[in-house]
Amino acid sequence: METFRSVVGHKRVISYLQESVRSGHVSHAYLLDGPDGVGKRLVATLFTATLLCREGGDEPCGKCISCRQMDSGNQPDVTWVTHEKSVISVGDIRTQLCNVVQVKPMAGPYRVFIVDEAERMNAEAQNALLKTLEEPPSYAVILLLTNNAESMLPTIRSRSVILQMLPAPEDELVEWLMDRAKLPDYRARLAAAYAGGSPGQALACARSEDFAKMRDAAVSMMKAVPTMREDRMSQLAKDFASGKDAQETTLALITVWLRDVMAYKAVGKKAKLMYQEDADSVAAHAESLRYEDVWALSEELSKIRANRAVNVNMETAFWLFLLKMQKYFKDAE
Ligand SMILES: [Zn+2]
Repeated sequence: METFRSVVGHKRVISYLQESVRSGHVSHAYLLDGPDGVGKRLVATLFTATLLCREGGDEPCGKCISCRQMDSGNQPDVTWVTHEKSVISVGDIRTQLCNVVQVKPMAGPYRVFIVDEAERMNAEAQNALLKTLEEPPSYAVILLLTNNAESMLPTIRSRSVILQMLPAPEDELVEWLMDRAKLPDYRARLAAAYAGGSPGQALACARSEDFAKMRDAAVSMMKAVPTMREDRMSQLAKDFASGKDAQETTLALITVWLRDVMAYKAVGKKAKLMYQEDADSVAAHAESLRYEDVWALSEELSKIRANRAVNVNMETAFWLFLLKMQKYFKDAE
């Protein structure tokens, strides 16, 4: 079983939760608010395990019957509220929470309800939940996990302890990835930079074969841009536009590439580059491109990322990006 000590980041949230267990001042509702992949589920699980652990410490002991039930997902006093549709309906909240909250805990001092993706509750569901929050039984603890606390009714927010879960500092994440996923440091740094401080996402991409393939594809594309033929460029733009799921990853990988080019321009050293295996190519780009070119290309990428949401023609946008990049190389000759 995990422990609080093995969690990357979230030191303040964790010490707050541990202190509430130690002092016995456990609130009826907590709102864990932070971006996807930041560690909300992990922290909620550890907090729940601690509340119900028979040893009564401020960490789950990992050995008692309750901790073992937590590990296998069978703790009878814990309910993960599930939903089948994309919204969490009033039916979901009533049947799994409001209607059963009066049933006393089987064994421990608390009965815990966890609502993941709580931002998906519609207004009716939130109103139903609010009724329970207004008069909760003494043993009830409700954990609301959300990437958008603003989507909760103010009356729910005011009855909850709001815990802000911020992305982990990049350095901490890199160390954790090296330790956990046994990655060499430059790989860990690429995954961490790519994931923007989200351990879940960083670990997923560090372990994913697709990610390794996409990384290699992005690198060969970058290497080829200076001498790329027009038909190849059009093909890449077409592929980019049709591979919806891959777009964000590709854009992020190119962003990190440009960050590397910028870093090499600034310090002229290969040691700290994310694309360590391709440091020679990064250096070559850095020598050909001017600062303002790299800057303009990065800006262009952020624009493409932002525009994905509003259905701009991705094929043209990406094609123009490649064309612009090639032009900067040609200008430098
Ligand atoms: Zn235990």
